[in-house]
Amino acid sequence: MALALALALVAPAPAAAQYPIFDAHIHYSRPDWDAYTPERILSILARAGERRALVSSTPDEGTLELYRRAPAGIVPSLRPYRDRADMSTWPRDPAVAAYVEERLKRGVYRAIGESHFGVGDVQAPVVKRFAELAAQHRLFLWCHVDDATAEAVLTTYPGVKLLWAHAGMSASARRVGELVDRYPTLWVELALRTDVAPDGTLDPEWRAVFLRHPDRFLIGTDTWVTSRWEGVRGATEAVQHWLLQLPREVAEQIAWRNGDRLFPPP
Ligand SMILES: [Zn+2]
Repeated sequence: MALALALALVAPAPAAAQYPIFDAHIHYSRPDWDAYTPERILSILARAGERRALVSSTPDEGTLELYRRAPAGIVPSLRPYRDRADMSTWPRDPAVAAYVEERLKRGVYRAIGESHFGVGDVQAPVVKRFAELAAQHRLFLWCHVDDATAEAVLTTYPGVKLLWAHAGMSASARRVGELVDRYPTLWVELALRTDVAPDGTLDPEWRAVFLRHPDRFLIGTDTWVTSRWEGVRGATEAVQHWLLQLPREVAEQIAWRNGDRLFPPP
């Protein structure tokens, strides 16, 4: 509640026909820090109708700066990259595992990720260690992976809760639906998936998957480069447009109820 109120102070009242948004894909990484203060970031999110957001940053300090100012609205996820160079080497770098293990002692994180890897990395030692840590601390693994890799993670580490970034980016609605049917520990966020509603009209295949599994999908924006912050509002407006084409109870789950259930406010 504190967060919602804090954001309400800087946000204009959203239009009546809008859903509050839980944004499951935000970064506040080093290049953003000079361009936008943490206060400005919170204002941008609030003005876009976002109530809460799952945030990970390279390095992690960006996430903690936001979290300190809005602990009810910012859900911290521990990005395993100390800098961008870690992005390609981390699955076999024991220093990354040690870094993550040490930082998790803060006890504020709800997920590990967003992390990037391929199907050949699923059994790599640091991926395995993350799966163990996620199970031990009851965290989500937030993974930017393709559909084959997502399935390999789910079968290799059956106890792990997987938050699948971008719904695999290129996986079809049908394929995403098959995986959600098959794996009860899979949740899917839809950042950058403009194919959900090309030209603004909700795609029938996506619609069918959402109606079948309204409890498994979340909205995402993905501020992966600094310029993206100027597009947050437009991105949520596009999402609102297709949410309004769903039954209200389905739209509410995808817009924010799933986020609040999976990452309960403190
Ligand atoms: Zn991202």
